[in-house]
Amino acid sequence: MIECKYGKQNRLFINHLGELIPCCYVNAEAINMGAGQSPKTLFGSLNQKFNNSLYENTIEDIINGPLFNGIKESWNTNNPVEKCNKTCKQKIRDKFEDRYQ
Ligand code: SF4
Repeated sequence: MIECKYGKQNRLFINHLGELIPCCYVNAEAINMGAGQSPKTLFGSLNQKFNNSLYENTIEDIINGPLFNGIKESWNTNNPVEKCNKTCKQKIRDKFEDRYQ
């Protein structure tokens, strides 16, 4: 079972592009797509398909819209959003290494 860390904590994430996304864990792909890269995962495909810009939508519209619902619906399939499966189900988190210590 996927236990959404941000959802459980009633948190959301707004990136520097003004996009409302569920959490920081999926932001790397959102930023890469903002820089012109093609989607690489299911999150990316959903993010590309549905507008989640706060310049054009309300918070409520995005939270109740197809991007967030698509992510949640994926959790009960054999193909959940990869970051959700890895980060919040398997608890495998990216490690930050400070090379300038
Ligand atoms: S990776 Fe998925 S399950 Fe985890 S906090 Fe983000 S949206 Fe929720």
